[in-house]
Amino acid sequence: MTGSGRPEREVAVLGLGKSGTSVAKLLLSRGNRIYASDAGSSPTVEANAAQLRALGAAVDVGSHDLARIASASRVVVSPGIDPLNAPVSAARDAGVPLVSEIEIALESLTDSRVIAVTGTNGKTTTTALIGHLLRGLGVDAVDAGNIGTPLSEMALRPKHPEWIALEMSSFQLHDTPSLSPEVGVLTNLTPDHLDRYRSTEDYYADKERLFQNATPRSKWVLNADDSLVNQMTEEVAGEKFGFSTRTRSDAWLDESTGMMMLRGDELLPRSELNLLGDHNVANALAASLAVSIADSRFATTDALKQIAEALKSFHPLAHRLEIVGDVNGVQWINDSKATNVSSTLVAVSGMKRPTVLLLGGRHKGEPYTGLLGAIRRSVKKVIAYGEAAGEIEKDIGALVPFERLGSDFEEVMRHARETAQPGDAVLLSPACSSFDMFKNYEERGATFRRLAMMKE
Ligand code: ADP
Repeated sequence: MTGSGRPEREVAVLGLGKSGTSVAKLLLSRGNRIYASDAGSSPTVEANAAQLRALGAAVDVGSHDLARIASASRVVVSPGIDPLNAPVSAARDAGVPLVSEIEIALESLTDSRVIAVTGTNGKTTTTALIGHLLRGLGVDAVDAGNIGTPLSEMALRPKHPEWIALEMSSFQLHDTPSLSPEVGVLTNLTPDHLDRYRSTEDYYADKERLFQNATPRSKWVLNADDSLVNQMTEEVAGEKFGFSTRTRSDAWLDESTGMMMLRGDELLPRSELNLLGDHNVANALAASLAVSIADSRFATTDALKQIAEALKSFHPLAHRLEIVGDVNGVQWINDSKATNVSSTLVAVSGMKRPTVLLLGGRHKGEPYTGLLGAIRRSVKKVIAYGEAAGEIEKDIGALVPFERLGSDFEEVMRHARETAQPGDAVLLSPACSSFDMFKNYEERGATFRRLAMMKE
């Protein structure tokens, strides 16, 4: 009830997956009235609906009550929901504010300190690194956002985390208007999601929302090697810190010595990082810098040593340049999370062995020609497959050793096995989404791993 005694309008929650259910519970615990709905009706959705009904929410499974959504005070949308979808349009047309699950959770987590990470590539790795480094410093820190447990679930816990490493996609930034992190990290900017955005400018505009509440006291960690990042942040208020794998910066890689440097001090030899590729050096530098400026406690000589120790014990996340095995002298590398051309480019550029490259899946709109230079340096053969195979062939098929296959992944793997010699690597870094042949990139990576381990 409001102060005037009138009942408050309800909050609508779209989607009854993990994060939708958590956020509905959080709102109920705050005394809000809830209408939750999901167009699907899987056993998980039914079970979640039952839980929420028991807590007093109104729930529809299998359909959305568009009129009810249009008269809600706010609508919570999950990043997976297409903005053109009917209930989202109903809310937007009625002028109802659309917010993310993260926005609601942050309203309850005012006692936690947030380091937010966005960018086209490296978000998850950098976020996980930040969480790992903070825990290495002995503080209570969680990783959240696109990673693992929904933030609302953490907000429901009796004890809130002291620190949150928060990954923010462009879609989440769009709907999180009050995000105001202690430190914000922008990893890099290249075109992506052209399947969901009208233009690259629209996509960058959402990324720019990281800075929407900047004040002179804000702290930003920015990729000094990325001209678009520099351009975007020129006018942003706050203190800016740079990381670079090329030139001297607040955190940088000194190529002459192979030493990673942090604010004038030696941090760790690059060779002691258990991660492949220079892009991961960039991620490690960004994470170390973000942590070291977040609190004066993390900027001491002892803290520097603890950060270095934690960097050494960080292992690659699954599906991100993950070496899944060595079979008969051939190294099999799963980079299924590389779903755009720029992420595949860094993977291929970092290859030290002659490589059989598996490229394909669902085309997302970018040309593949940007890969040519890197392919010529280390790739002995490109195997293109899936829906995008024709597009890939058109762009690079005549210019590099190339084979075009269909949508049978076992056949793709068989050809890869036949092509690779001892000393070679087979790299799945597809530059495309997985949805033409798999449920998601995780299933694609798991299938690669399983088939890679088969000894024929
Ligand atoms: P995101 O969460 O932004 O998708 P991830 O950390 O999950 O990023 O990494 C996804 C893929 O992007 C990796 O497999 C790798 O190929 C590539 N990648 C990771 N970090 C970077 C980076 N700093 N710059 C460019 N590409 C990167």
